[in-house]
Amino acid sequence: MNVADSRRLASALEQLGYEPTRQPTEADVIVLNTCVVRQSAEDKAIGRLSSLRPLKDHNPDLVINLMGCLIGVRGNQKILERFPWVDVVSAPSDPEPLLAYLGQRGAKTSSDAAYQQRNALLDGEIILPKAEQGTLVSAYIPIVYGCSHACTYCIIPLKRGIERSRPYAEILGEAHSLARQGVKEITLLGQIVDRYGLDLPNPTTLAMLLGDLHQIEGIQRIRFLTSHPNWMTDELLEAVQALPKVCPHIEVPIQAGDDDILRAMRRGYTSAAYRQLVAKIRERIPGVSIATDIIVGFPGETDAQFQNTYQLLDDLRMDVAHLARYSPRTGTFSERKMEDDVPDKVKMDRFRRLETLQEEIASEINARLLGKSVPVLFEEKKRGRWRGRTPTNKLVFVDSTEDLLGHERPVRIEWTGPWSMIGMLDSSPLG
Ligand code: SF4
Repeated sequence: MNVADSRRLASALEQLGYEPTRQPTEADVIVLNTCVVRQSAEDKAIGRLSSLRPLKDHNPDLVINLMGCLIGVRGNQKILERFPWVDVVSAPSDPEPLLAYLGQRGAKTSSDAAYQQRNALLDGEIILPKAEQGTLVSAYIPIVYGCSHACTYCIIPLKRGIERSRPYAEILGEAHSLARQGVKEITLLGQIVDRYGLDLPNPTTLAMLLGDLHQIEGIQRIRFLTSHPNWMTDELLEAVQALPKVCPHIEVPIQAGDDDILRAMRRGYTSAAYRQLVAKIRERIPGVSIATDIIVGFPGETDAQFQNTYQLLDDLRMDVAHLARYSPRTGTFSERKMEDDVPDKVKMDRFRRLETLQEEIASEINARLLGKSVPVLFEEKKRGRWRGRTPTNKLVFVDSTEDLLGHERPVRIEWTGPWSMIGMLDSSPLG
């Protein structure tokens, strides 16, 4: 979500006459777009913010914009008192405060231009930042902002606000403009992306949106994340199955495999219901890959409860498991009402056990592709090697002197590991 927000803001700034620089000492405007989903991310953001002070002391005209979850939808007065060198603050996904501030200062433009740009942003049109024009293959499109679910450990509803779906036409407009600029793959984003449209004046669904996006010429692949087990409808699974451009890859977090922990997290489902859902997804979408998220060391998690999570992952054999150690986030229910009583050492031990298990599972799943030909959409060349993804979101590297950027080509897989694979371009038909 932050990548998409930053791109939108970079695009707006370029329309106002600004250009990117890699040197903070050369910048007229610095935007720090922050994440606080875990303590480590917050610490990093605070560290960067502190490091900007000498620049501001040296150049008082420098505009420093602090954006994102460190500010949140309700603002953060304490942060402003602690870091008085910040000039302007913006809630997540909201470029307006900076554009208005620059407009008022007349730093590089008139306020009229700032407001015109603001209006263009609201219409869903996006002009890619110059550095990405002609090179960006895969882009994110936020479709649902915020979340109203309020899992007990989660800071997102407090920072990103209640759930708001973007207007249908605005999303289509953004996808069309990305396609015109050469983007081949779009990923629709929402904290519970499957709930898209339910809050709009004319309620609609993610499945319907996928159907309309599917018709856009130039867009070859469509992805969406993140799903919630309670909101994956049959209609959505049918859309994924029926629409060839929609990739057979589902991100649906379980968070814990123990029912008491799930209840304490207020996730709203049981481990048995999740198992059934995974079985249904696999039955409806042949060849699907599924990713999950798991938190270890939630308050009160016993060895036996952790073992239930371990067993569930071992049984379900997911393609990917994003793992996290619980860290209390200020203001959440679990931070206020529950004791963070699982020692760090135990959290780390549980994390490592799941990591080792997942490494084995992913190695086994990926090894099935050895010798097979898979379609890979190439996104970039790094250190002489092309990097792309299969529809199932597997990372593939290929050595080739051809210009593969933005092309989907069959690749015969020659080596597989748990996190990536290596192959060579295959001239024989896919199979
Ligand atoms: S559904 Fe996701 S974003 Fe919403 S509160 Fe729960 S964990 Fe946070």
